[in-house]
Amino acid sequence: MENRMKIEFAAMAQNEAFARSAAAAFVACMDPTIEELTEIKTGVSEAVSNSIIHGYKEDSSGTVELECQIREGGKVVIVVRDHGVGIEDVDKAREPMFTTGRTEERSGMGFTVMESFMDRLEVESRAGEGTTVTMTK
Ligand code: ATP
Ligand code: MG
Repeated sequence: MENRMKIEFAAMAQNEAFARSAAAAFVACMDPTIEELTEIKTGVSEAVSNSIIHGYKEDSSGTVELECQIREGGKVVIVVRDHGVGIEDVDKAREPMFTTGRTEERSGMGFTVMESFMDRLEVESRAGEGTTVTMTK
C-alpha cells in the first residue's frame, strides 16, 4: 500500500528545519541510509527555503505545503508547493548560479542541488500563482 502525508505551515524561516525533520521522520520507516536521508532533507530544505524567500518574499502570512509519498516499490515522491509570486522563466531559474536574490546571500545553486540529490526534479510555476516542485528518489 502506498503511504502518504501532507502538512502545511507558515512561511517562516524556522519552519525549514521543521519541514526537513518531518520528511526525514516520514521516510524513516523505509530504513534509508544516512546518505539518502541527508539528500532528502537537503532537497526539502532547498525547496522550502525557495518558497519562503522567493515565493513569499519572507511574508510569513504565506503557507507552504509539503507532501510525501512512499510508492509501492519504495520510490519516494516529495512535493513542495507555494502560492507565492511564481517563476517567470523556469528553465532559466534552473540554470546553475542563476539567482534573483542578493548575490552576497544567494548562490543560485538550490535547483542544481535538488537535481543532483534526487533522481528527478519537476518545477511547475506560473507568475502570480505560485510554484510546485516535485522531487522523486
Ligand atoms: P540558493 O538556493 O543557492 O541560496 P537561489 O535560491 O537564488 O540561491 P535557486 O534555489 O536555484 O537559487 O533558485 C533560482 C531562482 O529561482 C531564485 O533566485 C528565484 O528567482 C527563483 N525561484 C526558485 N524557487 C522559487 C519559488 N518558490 N518562487 C519564486 N521564485 C523562485
Ligand atoms: Mg534557493
